[in-house]
Amino acid sequence: MSEMMKNYIAEAEEALLHTYNRYQIVLDRGEGVWLYDMDGKKYLDFVAGIAVFALGYHNREYNDALKAQIDKLIHTSNYYYNVPAVEAAKKIKKVSGMDRVFFTNSGAEACEGAIKAARKYAYLKDGHTDHEIIAMNHSFHGRTMGALAVTGNPKYREPFEPLIGNVKFADLNDFDSVLSQVTDKTCAIMLEPVQGEGGLFPATEEFLKKLRALCDERDILLIFDEVQCGMGRTGYMYAWQRYGIKPDIMTTAKALGCGVPVGAFLMTEKVGLHSLVAGDHGTTYGGNPLACAAVEKVLDLFEKDHIIENVRKVAPYLEKRLEELADKYDCILERRGIGLMQGLVFDRPVSGIINKAMENGLILISAGPDIIRFVPPLVITTENVDEMIAILDKCIRE
Ligand SMILES: *Cc1c(COP(=O)(O)O)cnc(C)c1O
Repeated sequence: MSEMMKNYIAEAEEALLHTYNRYQIVLDRGEGVWLYDMDGKKYLDFVAGIAVFALGYHNREYNDALKAQIDKLIHTSNYYYNVPAVEAAKKIKKVSGMDRVFFTNSGAEACEGAIKAARKYAYLKDGHTDHEIIAMNHSFHGRTMGALAVTGNPKYREPFEPLIGNVKFADLNDFDSVLSQVTDKTCAIMLEPVQGEGGLFPATEEFLKKLRALCDERDILLIFDEVQCGMGRTGYMYAWQRYGIKPDIMTTAKALGCGVPVGAFLMTEKVGLHSLVAGDHGTTYGGNPLACAAVEKVLDLFEKDHIIENVRKVAPYLEKRLEELADKYDCILERRGIGLMQGLVFDRPVSGIINKAMENGLILISAGPDIIRFVPPLVITTENVDEMIAILDKCIRE
């Protein structure tokens, strides 16, 4: 490593709050599915900034759209209308099947908004202020207080309690565990259709079907957090479309702006007409012209460049190659996941393999201590999969 890169890392550790154990590289630029560090070393990227940069780096059309918007108008505040927000809203309504959208600055903030909308919906029904939310063990919804409150990982939650109250946890794919937590106060059931951070656990169709029926019967709102599994990653624009089970409220972020910080929570007209009204919720930056120009362009390019089709083509190949690795090595217990959101479960911590992969020019990330997570840019090819597998195989062997 060059002295220059070493110095930047040292300076980073003196200035930035140490909330991450960072990998020892300074990334400098990107091209397609490749990243380069300050020393010019090239890496194949199977992380995409954690499921963000779906279109690949240095995408000309995307960059040009952002540059044009920067020269026009970056910010207005939500007290005025702006054209990119209208265009982005129309497009996201179309691809999500939802009716109303509120743009946020992050995934966590989208989850906060979803929780507020659900509580307000219940409040308007009965005037009570003691409603409960059922969330899942191993879930991840973000680091702000509301999102953290519904995150099913005690390690993330405990030091910051008390969080927002009245949250109960159940097990994904165990309908009875959900049912046993339902009371007259339950206003929402919230989950990721495919759990990401918590270990790449897909929900079963049967489980989601039963949740939908339960929610319909008791007028409980079903909230899907599609921040990671949405935006094409499962081979469908949103994962619920794969299952055919539609939520009442949905959150999205990560790949939505492909790097420009933007998220959204969306809802059906039923919830839209009976929840948040003027004065209930807001954001200074959320959905500003620059962020929405990014969303608009990303959604355009998804269509124009047939991104979903590429996921459907490459994902089965990635799955097959990962299965082969799992068969080959005893230390790999299982492959799981859907589409280009995959995990290899090891019988030991994976940090050694991930570090070795980086030395060998491959960027990977974990999901928990013993799972390697694969969330590459959605433009990867089967050749990129082969390149990745060759490096990973070598690193496991060593
Ligand atoms: C990443 C993530 C979040 C939080 O998004 P941020 O933009 O980091 O706040 C919420 N939910 C899920 C499922 C995520 O993967």
